[in-house]
Amino acid sequence: MSLPNKCFLCKNKKNSQTLITNKVYGDAENKRSFFRCENCEIIYQFPKFTNKDQKKMYASEFENYMDKRVGKKIWQNPNLNSQHNIETKNRRLKYLKKYINKKYKNILELGAASGFMLEYFKKKNIIVMLLNHQF
Ligand SMILES: [Zn+2]
Repeated sequence: MSLPNKCFLCKNKKNSQTLITNKVYGDAENKRSFFRCENCEIIYQFPKFTNKDQKKMYASEFENYMDKRVGKKIWQNPNLNSQHNIETKNRRLKYLKKYINKKYKNILELGAASGFMLEYFKKKNIIVMLLNHQF
């Protein structure tokens, strides 16, 4: 089992990284584990996917899933995907609006798809960072 030298996010050192599990779905070779950084509390997979691994996984799993769910023409086009997700955006905003105020001016959105939530936040002068499948 490989051990991380530091947290990929906050760069804290090895002795603050705790093994959560070495059972990772789809890791047939049993090379990956999940760790928790005791400094920033993020839980992450290590070793992370290489670009080659990501392309393979997204092509074989995610893209097939999205093709069946909404169709290739929609999910691969940001404008069509935004239109397709209007109900999802409105449903999320009902929940999120109570957290959006003058105190918080930055949002980190993990798994942002086409970024269909961005327009609303942009109007509120909130800075949004998107983190999708290549980080
Ligand atoms: Zn950390």
